[in-house]
Amino acid sequence: MYDTAITQLAGVMAGTLTDAAPAEATVQLRTPTTTVDTTSNGSDDAAPWIALGGISVAAVLLGLFALRRSHEAHGLAGLANTDGLTGLHNRRKFDADIEEHRGRGDAPVAMLMVDVDRFKDFNDRYGHATGDAVLRVVADALTRSLRKGDVAYRYGGEEFCALLPDTPPDDARCVAERIRVTIEATALPVNASLTASVGLATGAASSLHALVMDADTALYAAKDSGRNCTVSA
Ligand code: GH3
Ligand code: MG
Ligand code: MG
Repeated sequence: MYDTAITQLAGVMAGTLTDAAPAEATVQLRTPTTTVDTTSNGSDDAAPWIALGGISVAAVLLGLFALRRSHEAHGLAGLANTDGLTGLHNRRKFDADIEEHRGRGDAPVAMLMVDVDRFKDFNDRYGHATGDAVLRVVADALTRSLRKGDVAYRYGGEEFCALLPDTPPDDARCVAERIRVTIEATALPVNASLTASVGLATGAASSLHALVMDADTALYAAKDSGRNCTVSA
């Protein structure tokens, strides 16, 4: 879009500059009281307007260039923060968001770790490509289970996590269970069912680093408890 606009404007500008430089040059000698034309082709009054037009077109061109660079930069930043398989935020974005939220001090926050149960077996049985498709389904189920303001990430492999700002423990547990139940109930592209285990930790935003570790520990406890359950730290 920008390329077309820039090309068209550049064309207009080239035309303007050509118009502004007629074959027969005009020289004006101005004094406070008189103006003397040494030659004239009848277009003297238009010269300032042509120059102004050229400057305007140049300004618009510069603006378009800046806009295009800004959009390109935002597009690249978006790609760098997005998981290519699921479209969720990736681990890089998670780390950045954790740092940002840590600055919110005493605000209550919840951290959820979600790991698909026995996914190696699933891959072995249905193949890696089906496994990939199922990870997208799980990511979608996770996203659907969250509230406005909650953010889901692919933490790595078949492990996901969610950051729930301004969320007390009881609400966090409701969300965690909703995620688990939704994943269990979600139809898959093959005739099989899948479950996930969830580890949950809640506390102050300033302690988010510890909360991530606590949620991970709780996730291991959920696995040890037989999987397909939520354990709070
Ligand atoms: P557990 O219930 O203890 O979590 O068992 P698990 O089999 O899910 O865990 P394990 O760590 O043994 O295996 C994880 C599996 O996830 C193995 C790996 O191939 C699979 N996996 C990780 N990332 C991807 C991916 O991007 N696509 C596919 N298809 N599989 C993946
Ligand atoms: Mg697993
Ligand atoms: Mg895992």
